[in-house]
Amino acid sequence: MASAGLFECRLCGLSAPYGYVGRRPPDSRSVVLLEESYVTRDPFAPGKDKFLVVGSRCGLCDKPVCAGPGCSLFYSKRFCLPCTWENIDAFPREIRHDLEKKRAETKPSSKKPDSRT
Ligand SMILES: [Zn+2]
Ligand SMILES: [Zn+2]
Repeated sequence: MASAGLFECRLCGLSAPYGYVGRRPPDSRSVVLLEESYVTRDPFAPGKDKFLVVGSRCGLCDKPVCAGPGCSLFYSKRFCLPCTWENIDAFPREIRHDLEKKRAETKPSSKKPDSRT
């Protein structure tokens, strides 16, 4: 069932090789993830039972999205941000609040302020 491959986030383009997809990373028997995730072994951790969740699939559109706060959020399921915004009324107010804050923070980075030459 485990199939290795390359995970690619549909939103930010982040790509990372993963070794496992699912809820129980093979090297950490006691861990059960909350969602089906693309999991890779943590290359910076010395122990062999360390793993990283690269991302997972959006519960609505089924696109693979990374776990970064700018791409997806977890609210009982993984949702990519475009789907979250489309269905923002279905989310509790604090999540909406959080997203609006994040959006305000991340917006300036797409455009560099120094236009002087
Ligand atoms: Zn991403
Ligand atoms: Zn989605």
